[in-house]
Amino acid sequence: MTDNQNTNSAANLAANATSGKPTSVSFLGLGAMGYPMASHLVGHFDSVMVWNRSADKAHAHAKEFGSHAVDFEQALSANIIISCLPTSQQVAELIERAKLHLRVGSVWVDCTSGVPDAAHKAAATLEELGCYFIDAPVSGQTTGAIAGSLTVMVGGDTDALAYAKPAINCFAGLIEHVGSSGGGFAVKAVNNTLFAVNSWALGEGLGVLKAHGVKPSSALECINHSSGQSFASKVTFPDRIVNRSFPKTFTLDLMAKDCGIAIDLQQQAKLPAPVMAAVASFMRAASNQVPAGSADFSEFIHFLENWTNQMISDDLDENNASK
Ligand code: NDP
Repeated sequence: MTDNQNTNSAANLAANATSGKPTSVSFLGLGAMGYPMASHLVGHFDSVMVWNRSADKAHAHAKEFGSHAVDFEQALSANIIISCLPTSQQVAELIERAKLHLRVGSVWVDCTSGVPDAAHKAAATLEELGCYFIDAPVSGQTTGAIAGSLTVMVGGDTDALAYAKPAINCFAGLIEHVGSSGGGFAVKAVNNTLFAVNSWALGEGLGVLKAHGVKPSSALECINHSSGQSFASKVTFPDRIVNRSFPKTFTLDLMAKDCGIAIDLQQQAKLPAPVMAAVASFMRAASNQVPAGSADFSEFIHFLENWTNQMISDDLDENNASK
């Protein structure tokens, strides 16, 4: 048998196995996003298993929501395996560990904000085992994960998506199939870079206005009823930055990672994208000022404030930043 025939028969086997309805689902990675996302699965399948590197979170999840805390090998017995880890690197490590234990026909749904090339590799590896991998990163922050209203952008096999949809639906407000393997990761990276661009530009604009004696919250009131509005102006700045609360729900290093993925895509396509590239560099520079995982993404503003000497708060006597 040739390699091709091998792959084809594995794919056929997988296609047959995914023709029924899934009855079991596992969630790997109960972080800021995964913990609430997994809670919505409970009650929709015969078996909802959760696994986390530090097992205490899985046990807490089981206690709080009625999921079933399991070891890694047990988690791989599910029809649908969902992962939500920091980067594609950790997902690749788990797939390597999982290879010997996966069941033919299972669908791995990766909700990590990952790298398109890693999706191609994972999809090829799983196809050889008679399984599927689809990239399905999410947008909507932890509030969307708690509400079960996330936007899910999917790349990969449409039959595998159809099979996994009952599980994804549990935490989604929108599921969009955007193309072949890696497409979901690509859309997610560009989306977050656009968010970073809006946030950075708004920080610049509000700094200029503050230097002219305008309170940021007054400026935002106008901007949010005008054409300069964005998610950053409506949510991020009022809820995190102007009030100096900086709640840590999505870390700055993860934002810098997402912008970096978009810039790699831009380079691969040999396209100019000077605004995205500049803001990706600013986010990387801001992230490098603090230990990984220690700051919310909104704390990029400290980096900008140190440049402008204008603090984005409503205290008009206060300048010089970093509070
Ligand atoms: P967190 O840092 O809160 O959680 C990361 C999870 O991954 C934890 O469960 C952690 O386990 C686990 N983990 C880390 N390293 C490993 C490893 N080597 N092996 C196994 N498990 C590991 O991240 P988030 O939940 O914030 O983010 C997850 C993904 O979702 C990222 O790709 C992020 O970009 C994306 N995202 C995040 C959003 C947000 O608002 N936070 C919004 C949209 C997307 P342990 O508990 O043991 O540390």
